[in-house]
Amino acid sequence: MNKGKTIKIGVIGVGHLGNFHLKQLKEIPQISISGLYDSDSNRADEISKLYNVISYSSVDKLLKESDTISIVTPTNNHYSVADKALNSGCHLFIEKPITNNIEHAGLLLNKAEKLNKIIQVGHIERFNPAFTVLKNLDIQPRFIEAHRLAEFNPRGNDVPVILDLMIHDLDIILSLVKSEIKDIKANGVKVVSATVDIANARVEFENGCVANLTASRISQKIMRKMRLFQERDYITIDFQNGVLEEYKVYDKSPSPKKGDQVAELGGEEKKYVLYRKPDVPNHDALREELIHFADSILNVQKPETDGQSAAKALSLALEIQKIIDS
Ligand code: NAD
Repeated sequence: MNKGKTIKIGVIGVGHLGNFHLKQLKEIPQISISGLYDSDSNRADEISKLYNVISYSSVDKLLKESDTISIVTPTNNHYSVADKALNSGCHLFIEKPITNNIEHAGLLLNKAEKLNKIIQVGHIERFNPAFTVLKNLDIQPRFIEAHRLAEFNPRGNDVPVILDLMIHDLDIILSLVKSEIKDIKANGVKVVSATVDIANARVEFENGCVANLTASRISQKIMRKMRLFQERDYITIDFQNGVLEEYKVYDKSPSPKKGDQVAELGGEEKKYVLYRKPDVPNHDALREELIHFADSILNVQKPETDGQSAAKALSLALEIQKIIDS
């Protein structure tokens, strides 16, 4: 870490998630908050008082006081806000999805590269405590099943559920499966809102891996789970509850470590299953994500969830959306 240095960050959009951004940003030593701006002046006043942070009456005034901006406005205006902030010379944290179309994402990436500015995108699940443990395992999945189910909420309905929720799993899967996409099948339905509320996609990769994803924002139950199947290994991650479990198959009885369990499988040939539930750190994913952003700027390093990886997830999400619309 770059000792003693801080970044001056302004937050644009302090609705549901922007509120949590400010809450976490206030706790991060390498960050000082320059102020906030929200087009809803009542909301801006409320959050300004809550966190004792200056509320500016225009974006331009906030940009003048900041070297970094966190964009937590609705997805449909990420591009215009981000473009303005880049023009003013700021590094950017943009909530997911990076933009609502790939052309705009490309324009932002090109401009950021030219101006030597960092873009990190809010693919927060990569900082989920359970995922930080999973990514250190030997992951070569052949089949992935993902479920991301949420209760209905009018927020986020400006974009289809693929861009709002499924994109989290698409980003995770693209970070795990190092292969090109071969084929996509998808289906989706507008049940409540004017855009798709429930969607299923089957993504087949060149290396044979298949990912089957379901995302819904009209569910009665909340679920954020992914199951990964690979040779002699089954891993399940619960993003909602921060739990990771692994079942590994062996020919000979393995030696369990503390907390592991071994079961014998029936059948002619004896096989053994080793069950592990690794310890998962107890950290706040949003705080870790923002610390990573600050460190990336201070150490001039590419963030893990940079603009390029976010654009790949967006491109796949839009491809799925196109198939559903056709
Ligand atoms: P929200 O509607 O609660 O808040 C958006 C805020 O932006 C509002 O206060 C609104 O007044 C303000 N705003 C709108 N246009 C603006 C503009 N041009 N300039 C300044 N302020 C403006 O929405 P939210 O749920 O907080 O979502 C915001 C973003 O965060 C979306 O892109 C969403 O996809 C993303 N999000 C990400 C996650 C995650 O898990 N990473 C979770 C929820 C939301």
